[in-house]
Amino acid sequence: MHIRQKDLVEVIAGDDKGVRARVLRVDPRKEHAIVEGVNRVYKHLRRSRKHPQGGRLEIEAPVHVSNLLVVCTKCDKGVRIGYRKEAEGRKHRVCRRCGADLGEL
Ligand SMILES: [Zn+2]
Repeated sequence: MHIRQKDLVEVIAGDDKGVRARVLRVDPRKEHAIVEGVNRVYKHLRRSRKHPQGGRLEIEAPVHVSNLLVVCTKCDKGVRIGYRKEAEGRKHRVCRRCGADLGEL
């Protein structure tokens, strides 16, 4: 999966299309990511001792990673990612557009 936690990503589909934000969490198994402020939904809470009236919480719902591009700091754009094998078997991500190293995977 090309997205990591703390990446700056650009949303390329859906209501938040064009938004740039930070990745809070990823779920590689489901290929989902939680992105700060993106895909916000209301979670309705049942009445409880803490919330006697019930409640409504706004939270970020997971986004499929195919709707996200990593932002290349050099291109200042969402870009497609390639991979490069470094010494000691480390895998680095590279920008497909300018070749900049976008960090270890
Ligand atoms: Zn680039």
